[in-house]
Amino acid sequence: MADKRDYYEVLGVDKSADDATLKRAYRKLAKKYHPDVNPGDKEAEAKFKEATEAYTILSDPDKRRQYDQFGHAAFENGGGGAGGGFGGFDFNGADMGDIFGDIFGDLFGGGGRSRRANNGPMKGANLRARVNITFEEAVFGCEKELEIVLKDECTTCHGTGAKPGTSPVTCPKCNGEGQVVFTQQSMFGMVRNVQTCPDCHGTGKIIKDKCTACRGTGYTSSRKKIQVSVPAGIDNGQSIRIREKGEPGTNGGPRGDLLVEVNVARHPIFQRQDMNIFSTAPLTYAQAALGGTVRINTVDGEVEYEVKPGTQTDTRIRLKGKGVPSLRNKNVRGDHYVTLVVQVPTNLNEEAKEALRKFDEACGNRPKETADGSEKKKKSFMDKLKETFED
Ligand SMILES: [Zn+2]
Ligand SMILES: [Zn+2]
Repeated sequence: MADKRDYYEVLGVDKSADDATLKRAYRKLAKKYHPDVNPGDKEAEAKFKEATEAYTILSDPDKRRQYDQFGHAAFENGGGGAGGGFGGFDFNGADMGDIFGDIFGDLFGGGGRSRRANNGPMKGANLRARVNITFEEAVFGCEKELEIVLKDECTTCHGTGAKPGTSPVTCPKCNGEGQVVFTQQSMFGMVRNVQTCPDCHGTGKIIKDKCTACRGTGYTSSRKKIQVSVPAGIDNGQSIRIREKGEPGTNGGPRGDLLVEVNVARHPIFQRQDMNIFSTAPLTYAQAALGGTVRINTVDGEVEYEVKPGTQTDTRIRLKGKGVPSLRNKNVRGDHYVTLVVQVPTNLNEEAKEALRKFDEACGNRPKETADGSEKKKKSFMDKLKETFED
C-alpha cells in the first residue's frame, strides 16, 4: 500500500477540485480505460480500478474529508485489526452501486441503477475525533476522556424536523422519489441523467412548518464525555472505533461510530518502528575498550547491560522483549535496539592527556618521547585510564 498513488493525482485534478471537476476527470479516465473498451488489457483494467477507487472516495464528501486528513491510512485496516475493531474506514463498504448508477448509467447507457429516496433504516455518519497521548501511553495503553458534541434526535419533533402536529409533506418537485431525471445530449447520444432532488436533497420530503426546538434539523446537540480505552501497542495515526457514538441514524437506523485518531507525541530518546524501539546510548572510551556494565534507559526503566571488551562505536545491541506490545496480544512484545556510541573525550586535563599519550605509546602508535623517568606512572597507566573515564 506504500506506493499507492495519491487519489487527486490519479484523477489528475487538484485538491480544491469541485464535484463537477472530479466527475469530469473520472468520466474521461473511465471512458479511456473501461474494460468494455479494452477487453483483456490488464493495465487498462488496473487503471480503471485505480480511477474508480479514487473517484469513489473523493466524490463522497465524508470520505474525501477523511482522505484529506489522513491520506490512504484513513481506509486501511490500521495495524491491529483486533476484535475490538481498530482501523479506519472500510473501503469495501463504499457503495459502488451508487457510483456506477451515477456515472455509467449515462456513460454507457443502460445498467444505470435507479436511486430512490431511502426511507428504510440508515446508519448514521461516523464522527471523528483526535486524542493526544505520550510515547509511553501508546506502549502501555491508557484511559482517556474525550469531550465531543453529540447530536441526538430532537425530542420535540422526534427527528422529523416538523412542528408538532404537522408532518413533512411529499416533495412536489420529485414526487417523493428523492431524485430528478432529465435527458441531455452527449457524445453518446441522448442520455438519461439522474440527479439528487435539489429541493428535498434526496429525502423525498419537505418540511413546511419547522420544529422550533431544533429549527427543522430534527436534531439537538450536546457536549458529552466519552471514555476511550487506548490499547497497549497503538501507533501514531491509528484510530480506535467506538461503536455507535457517531451521528444518529435515520428511520430507526443505528448511530454511526466515533473514530478516535491517536496522536502520539515524539519521545526525546526513543524512536519507534512498528513493535520495535530504537535509541542510542553513550559508551565511554574506557568502557568500549575494557568492557563493563552500562545502564540503558528502556520503557521499563533502566536496565544493566554487560558491554564486551573491544566494543566498537555504532555497535547495535538487542534488548529482547523491551519493545512495544502487539495490539493483538500485549504479552507479545517487540525488541529494543540500542546503538552504542563511543564518546571521544574532550576537555581533557593534563593528567588524562598524559595517560592517553602513554596509552598510545603502549599500543605502539607513538615513537617514545623523552622519557619522563617515572616508573610508577608507567606501571599504573591502565589504572589511571580507568580512573579518568569511569565516573
Ligand atoms: Zn425538532
Ligand atoms: Zn424532492
